[in-house]
Order: sequence, then C-alpha cells, then structure tokens
Amino acid sequence: ATQEAQAAAHQPAITRDGKQVRVFANIGSISDVQVAVANGAEGVGLLRTEFLYLGRTNAPTEEEQYTVYQAIAQVLDGRPLIIRTLDVGGDKPLPYIVKVPEANPFLGWRGIRFCLDHPDLFKTQLRAILRASAGHNIKVMLPMIATVTEVRAAKAILNEAQAELKQANIAFDKAIAVGIMIEVPAAVAIADQLAGEVDFFSIGTNDLSQYVMAGDRTNPRVASLADALHPAVLRMVQQTVQAAHAAGIWVGLCGELAADTLATPILLGLGLDELSVNPQTIPVIKQAIAQLSVDEAVAIAASALQQDSATQVRNLVQQLTHK
Ligand code: PEP
Ligand code: MG
Repeated sequence: ATQEAQAAAHQPAITRDGKQVRVFANIGSISDVQVAVANGAEGVGLLRTEFLYLGRTNAPTEEEQYTVYQAIAQVLDGRPLIIRTLDVGGDKPLPYIVKVPEANPFLGWRGIRFCLDHPDLFKTQLRAILRASAGHNIKVMLPMIATVTEVRAAKAILNEAQAELKQANIAFDKAIAVGIMIEVPAAVAIADQLAGEVDFFSIGTNDLSQYVMAGDRTNPRVASLADALHPAVLRMVQQTVQAAHAAGIWVGLCGELAADTLATPILLGLGLDELSVNPQTIPVIKQAIAQLSVDEAVAIAASALQQDSATQVRNLVQQLTHK
C-alpha cells in the first residue's frame, strides 16, 4: 500500500458523502490476526478454521480449538470475530475421516453438508466457539448453505451445545449471532427465506462465481468463465443484498472480489455493508472507498449490471473512475 493509504488505514472507511463501509480481514491462522490489526482491520470477517483440522491425524479437541479462538479474539480486543465452521471437502479433504472419492468434489460432500453428517465433530467445534464467545465479540458463520433445512439443522446442534454448556455452568454469549455464507446459487434464489433464519450474510464470490457460471476454476479450459465481475455474478450479489436489507440484516462480501479495487465502486453501489479482504489489502480498499461517493457508486453499479461481459465491466469501471 502507498504511504498515504497506510496512514489512513486505522481510520474507518467513509465515502466522500459520509457512508461508512466496514473493512474486515480474512484470516486463516493466529499469526494473521496480528497482521490484520496492524493493517487497520475493523474485525475479522472470515476466520477459515480448516487450518486447525488439516495436516494432522485426528480432529482438534474442544480445548485446543477454544484456546485458539480465544487467543485470536484477545488480539482483536473487542472487534468482531466471525468464525466460519469447518469447510472441508471439495478441494480440501480431511484424511483421517474415511472418504469415498467423488466424481464432482465441488458438488459433493463439503462444508455444512459434511458437518451435519458428523454431528459430534460439528458440536465440538460449536462448543469451542461458544466458550470463546464469553466476554468476546464472536459470531458463527456456516459455509455452503443451500437450503433452509440445513440452517435449521445446524442451529439445532448449536442449541444443543448451548444447553449442554448451560447445564454445566460454563459461560458463553447467549445472544451469539449466527450468519451464513452465500456461495451457492440456491442460497441467492431463496435469500429472502434464509434472511429470516439468520443474523447476517457474507457472500463468498470465489465459490459463487464457479457455481453460477458452471465453470470449475481449477480447470484451465473454463476457469476464466468463473469471473466474479461477470454481470451474472454481480446480479446475484445485488439480489442477495436486496433480500438481506429487506429483512433488516447486514450483508458482507468475503470472496476475492472484495479485494479488487476495480470492484469497490460496484460493491459500494450495490449496498454491501462490509468487505472482508486479505490483511495486506485493507489499506488500499479503505482508500478506494474514501475516494467514492455513494451516488457515483450506485451509477457505476447500475451500468456494470448491464454489460455483456466481465471484460466490459472492467473497462467501464476504469473509464468512469479514471483508473
Ligand atoms: C468464497 O467461496 O468466496 C469464500 C470466501 O470461501 P473459500 O474461498 O474459503 O471457499
Ligand atoms: Mg467458499
């Protein structure tokens, strides 16, 4: 980041006409959180918890997880910490859980699907998150949600974990917020229904793009199709934001798209409340927000949605923002 961006990184990101957009960090380890805070993160919008489970021969215990979540929350010093429950499967197999090979791992047994089929493993993680929530600003986020039934099933296990802790007189935040990733097209289609079940949404454009465009991003022949700046993806972002706001919940975006300054005017114009990016990118994203006005961003977003391709969207934003 430029010196100017770095200097402003510890201030909130406010548009020229006074709208604040929260800028959070995506992290995947304890050491990342220090970098996030040093770069001006106002919270952690996505803690990828896979690092706790991978590269070992058994699942981490409740105690181990609790220690890590608590340590991260401590560094955040009151800033929100959104902990995403385990998102293995797909491209991230868990070797110590016997798994049949899948023809289409990205359409397979991953994220919340896997956790609901391993309720003990899932509940252990939820208990650890709940225990760490005592005295800390922690929220839970569920990955790969496609149906209302999945949300209710996950919340039922969370309720069980809460009842167990209460019974044992162990402290936790009784009002802990529960949110979901919006990264499966079905979740966009039923976003109005899902919004009634949860406290917030976070749009995962990495997965959403490949699912919307039916283009496997690990297959070089079609990977370029899965471009988050394609109007088909942007329209899904718009639909999600509208459904969230109509239901009175906030909505963020934690895919790589949030870290692209060419996307900043579009995302601001579509009304996202929070952007979560890799820690190093926070200063430049805050700077990009500060340079815009909401009116200008709304106009850019509206024309972006009418373009024919991601390339046209890029050209448009470059022209309109003189980048
Ligand atoms: C996403 O899919 O956009 C996302 C943020 O999750 P991950 O990259 O961990 O799948
Ligand atoms: Mg994802």
